[in-house]
Amino acid sequence: MSIAENLINIKKSLPEHVTLVAVSKTKTINEIMEAYNAGHRDFGENKIQEMTQKWEQLPKDINWHMIGHVQRNKVKYMAPFVSLIHGVDSLKLLKEINKQAQKNNRVIDCLLQIHIAQEDTKFGMNEDELFSLIESDEFASLNNIRVKGLMGMATFTDNTRQIMQEFTLLQTLFKKLQQYNPSQKLAPSILSMGMSSDYKIALQCGSNMVRIGSSIFGARNYDK
Ligand SMILES: *Cc1c(COP(=O)(O)O)cnc(C)c1O
Repeated sequence: MSIAENLINIKKSLPEHVTLVAVSKTKTINEIMEAYNAGHRDFGENKIQEMTQKWEQLPKDINWHMIGHVQRNKVKYMAPFVSLIHGVDSLKLLKEINKQAQKNNRVIDCLLQIHIAQEDTKFGMNEDELFSLIESDEFASLNNIRVKGLMGMATFTDNTRQIMQEFTLLQTLFKKLQQYNPSQKLAPSILSMGMSSDYKIALQCGSNMVRIGSSIFGARNYDK
């Protein structure tokens, strides 16, 4: 099946309120344009440089999602255009995003990444770190960022029950955050969880943003 057909089939299977981020890392401009021409506008990349190069070459009405681990010294490259940064895992990083957003005269939307997997390789904060971040005075002073919700990645496993447990943990934290809501800066409405292999489980656990790559574009030869 073609990229456009895959995309349309997946979109049809998603509830109306769920946003599909088409993960285009390692994919070419032509491949992305195929999805774009099928009407898609939300694309996700995990490398800032690759995303910036693609942004330069592609139509400007694309919403670019940074879904990978963010290095502070590279925030400046995406600050002019990034639509949502999913992988924010420290106050230090948030401060740098705020600084670069200010330089560009804009407010940048972010998600805080929570570590839910039983794998050390995945990034993210735990519950204590999350709440100490959002309760800090420094956080309250960052006027050029907005925390829109949470993001997480489950363990890479066939064990459906384990994946479900991990996503449920994130959902519980998300609800807690929604009730907490101490400031204007915190407007938690997005729960980003689920990829090609586990998005159906994620939807059952309340995800409203899924990040899907290989089921749309085909397998990646290698992850750059
Ligand atoms: C690559 C990636 C995805 C998409 O993975 P697929 O298995 O190709 O759907 C989703 N989220 C993150 C953070 C990724 O790095």
